Amino acid sequence: MALRQIRIKGDAILEKVCKEVKEVTPRTEELINDMFETMYEACGVGLAAPQVGILKRLVVIDVTGEDPIVMINPKVIETSGEQRGYEGCLSLPGKSGIVTRPNYVKAMYQDVNMETQFIEGTELLARAILHEIEHLDGHMYTEKVEGELINNEDLENAYEGE
Ligand code: ZN
Repeated sequence: MALRQIRIKGDAILEKVCKEVKEVTPRTEELINDMFETMYEACGVGLAAPQVGILKRLVVIDVTGEDPIVMINPKVIETSGEQRGYEGCLSLPGKSGIVTRPNYVKAMYQDVNMETQFIEGTELLARAILHEIEHLDGHMYTEKVEGELINNEDLENAYEGE
């Protein structure tokens, strides 16, 4: 495993649409392992492949530190409710902003065996799933922020990055 360099907002790769993953090769597995290592090292709860410069539809998420999830070709199929709260991104370190999102999300994806799986999440998990999937289409949470971004040290209740 190896740490990968996290691309920072302004890097054109973060604005591109990622390609479907057709098969999981040893290189894909290496990418997944590196993405988890990179995410944990940066104290994030999610990371999308374009954030490490790879234009593939692949994200890793772990909102508790004990529930690693690999989502290949993820798609949102249902959302409901609403949550409003601070959100951050490893591609914009040290900053957070208020984003309103659905409080519940159901998504489908392929696992590392390319078998279709479904996931349901609420609260932070729902926020992380939606945030990461948006990266795959070249979008960042900053497009949805209400008001100004603030520095994380000014926050009492923000969580660190996605
Ligand atoms: Zn992000």
